[in-house]
Amino acid sequence: MYCGRFAPSPTGPLHFGSLVAATASFLEARANCGEWLVRIEDVDRSRCRPHYASQILTTLEGFGFSWDGPVVYQSDRDEIYAAAIERLGDRVYACSCSRGEEHRRGCDLSKPVRSWRFSSVADEDFILRSATGGFYSYQLAVVVDDEAQGVTHVVRGADLESSTPRQAELQQALGYRALAYWHFPLALGADGAKLSKQNAAPGIELEDASRQLWRALRFLGQSPPVEVEGAALGEIWAWAIGAWRRP
Ligand code: GLU
Repeated sequence: MYCGRFAPSPTGPLHFGSLVAATASFLEARANCGEWLVRIEDVDRSRCRPHYASQILTTLEGFGFSWDGPVVYQSDRDEIYAAAIERLGDRVYACSCSRGEEHRRGCDLSKPVRSWRFSSVADEDFILRSATGGFYSYQLAVVVDDEAQGVTHVVRGADLESSTPRQAELQQALGYRALAYWHFPLALGADGAKLSKQNAAPGIELEDASRQLWRALRFLGQSPPVEVEGAALGEIWAWAIGAWRRP
């Protein structure tokens, strides 16, 4: 059974880049007769705002996305992340290095502890929990939640590709299943468009949903026929699910 997901961080309204990520993961899931889940990645409360979470969900609904099962909020799940850290046992150690400092193992623990790190075999050691904010890290939360929600396939932008080896190593250390990943290139686009911070960042308006969805499909290398341009959302989706091919 295929299970995909879209996992936005509510640090702002849904922008074009996140619409593309939602569209790619949704179409992969539906084209594989799979489930598609939505998870709000608000683990870092210093950067996330609840009103953006509800705004993102309203925008997704307005675009015609439908998800299976309840939306999961990472801010509700601290105890589950704490249990995962316990389970990692001696692969976790306390660290006093500050963000600016170059990290090294065996740092001076007479200084205040700033984080707990995972001792990695494949990569640099990375943070599982910050002591200063008390927040669990994205790497830990995403791995724990993908397992808990039964996700099988992760579809996301190539900007997150460098996190995948870390997440795979954590999955292994926790005795979880391995997942399948597809990172869509950030420069695709029938019109040669590149998804950069500049052209992805403005919030998208629901009044303009058909045109934005059309743009997202073009960006993902799909070739919707002219008749579909300017059509109702339902018609665009029907075409897109039937015609979807990974670029
Ligand atoms: N929450 C992450 C973001 O909004 C995405 C995480 C993921 O897809 O693994 O960038």
